[in-house]
Amino acid sequence: MRIVVNGKLAGTKEQGCALCGGTWGNWYQEVDGERLFFCCDICAKEFVNMIDKVKEITGWKKVDELVIEGDYYRGRNCEAKSGGKSLRYYVKFGEDAEVSTFRVES
Ligand SMILES: [Zn+2]
Repeated sequence: MRIVVNGKLAGTKEQGCALCGGTWGNWYQEVDGERLFFCCDICAKEFVNMIDKVKEITGWKKVDELVIEGDYYRGRNCEAKSGGKSLRYYVKFGEDAEVSTFRVES
């Protein structure tokens, strides 16, 4: 999965957390068969919950590309892509890493 967080490639220890871009921490989680780097388990949970939501809405089997802009407090404007299709959405997480707001944008 190609991941861009606030304008920078992310998802490995060198590049930063796949959700927030942070380079501290040391948490790995497999998503769609790929081992992704996260700064902490909370970011990993949020990421997985978000991907699940995207799949639920679109019916996609996997996500090829993800562009994320924003942070925990403002919420995040994202674009997910899979096999030439694209979904733009706004997402915000709650205190337990759950998806609290999810709005599809056209
Ligand atoms: Zn993070």
